Amino acid sequence: MVTIMNKVQANAKPAGLRMTRQRRLILEELDAPGRHPTADAVYQQVRRRIPNISLGTVYRNLEVLSQAGMIRKLHIGSGQKRYDRKLHKHYHVHCVQCGRISDLPGGPFGDLEEVARGNSDFDIIGYELEFEGLCRQCKDSSPRQREPN
Ligand SMILES: [Zn+2]
Ligand SMILES: [Zn+2]
Repeated sequence: MVTIMNKVQANAKPAGLRMTRQRRLILEELDAPGRHPTADAVYQQVRRRIPNISLGTVYRNLEVLSQAGMIRKLHIGSGQKRYDRKLHKHYHVHCVQCGRISDLPGGPFGDLEEVARGNSDFDIIGYELEFEGLCRQCKDSSPRQREPN
């Protein structure tokens, strides 16, 4: 456990990664709590501060930052890739209607890994888990919910 924590810490500031203004602004965008923006959403925000930045540049920087372990790349649902600043193991729930993504409190569900280990001859090293459902907004505006009785 300690080893894993140290590794994440070490990854948080990789040696040799130049912290350009672009990268700093991109990270700031991802720092906002509860956000899991697409590259496009990051671009829309960052270009308010750097008007001549291109989507390609934002995309490349997101790749560099995720390869350096400073952000996580998420493949959730069928939509575009999302980016997450929270590096610790946590789970997501996405709305099947509007695509909204939230962090799911609780976990890690360590016992799930134990179960998998017990049932497989693979050397299990981890898992990806994603929940889906209807967010509160979509649930409230769903026709089924509005019909009385
Ligand atoms: Zn929704
Ligand atoms: Zn997250």
